[in-house]
Amino acid sequence: MTNLTRRAFGAVALAAPVLISGTAPLLAQSAAPAAHPASVFGATIGAYRVTALLDGILPMSTAWFPGGSPDAFQSALAKSGITGDSLPAPINAFLLQSDDATILVDAGLGGLDMMGPGFGQISAGLTALGLAPSDIDTLVMTHAHADHIGGMIGANGAAFPNAELVVTGAEHAFWTDAGIMAQVPDEVKSAFQLAQAVFGAYAGRIKLVESGAEIAPGVTMEIVPGHTMGHAVLHIDGGDRQLLMVTDAVHSIDLQTALPEQGTMFDTDPVLAAQSRVRLFDRAASDNILIAGCHVHFPGFGRIVSADEAYRYVPASILS
Ligand SMILES: [Zn+2]
Repeated sequence: MTNLTRRAFGAVALAAPVLISGTAPLLAQSAAPAAHPASVFGATIGAYRVTALLDGILPMSTAWFPGGSPDAFQSALAKSGITGDSLPAPINAFLLQSDDATILVDAGLGGLDMMGPGFGQISAGLTALGLAPSDIDTLVMTHAHADHIGGMIGANGAAFPNAELVVTGAEHAFWTDAGIMAQVPDEVKSAFQLAQAVFGAYAGRIKLVESGAEIAPGVTMEIVPGHTMGHAVLHIDGGDRQLLMVTDAVHSIDLQTALPEQGTMFDTDPVLAAQSRVRLFDRAASDNILIAGCHVHFPGFGRIVSADEAYRYVPASILS
């Protein structure tokens, strides 16, 4: 727990418009804000249509990726064509729709004013898809950082009035542990307060799950610890097409595929996070399965391939 005293793990959130869905033209003429025209992209995975929703673009700084070898770091950036000290990355949420379920995976920053203007676009994305907040029946919290849970609550409490909140028991236990909260510096306490506010808003309809739990037919939630201790990824078994939603195991897909052991200042346990990331990359590359990530270039779908003793990200621009 010593890391807790010096890491902000999400007290500053990672934090646009919208979407990804199988019906690309859907939003083309919608009434989305002019500054952030909605766009849609998605993939069909078995019984599910998976749609990416863009909350905003986060101007990540190279300083958010501390430690490691400066030479290797600069070399990885150069290989990716990145110059300067900015690694812009989206905040993506994902909508899973089947005949029986409407599942939202994370909800962006919502109304939190933590990263400046331009965030909080998830609800506009849902509206553009013809959905009301009340249509969401399952709300998945991959982990309790602000850029994933800020949009789960609003001025009147729960933003999704009919949703059951699904989170791993480990994640819930961490953020509701008064002992841990007492150890962290004051500037990090707000992260605990936010998580507890979300849990409070959904009291009575929170489903705590273990790693490996099937939260909907073919959708499995697995704990991949390190970024947070109960941080979860999702696997969607669509028969001939699998999707591994790596959520926040990756923050800069360019940098961290080249340097898989490079963590971020938001990792609660950077060493464990690195081990988890390497295992996920190995799995995605070996099985050649589709991945999607919360901070992977919008719309966030692609593949991980082995390259130069590390990995490389190949975006999936077209998914039929
Ligand atoms: Zn995040």
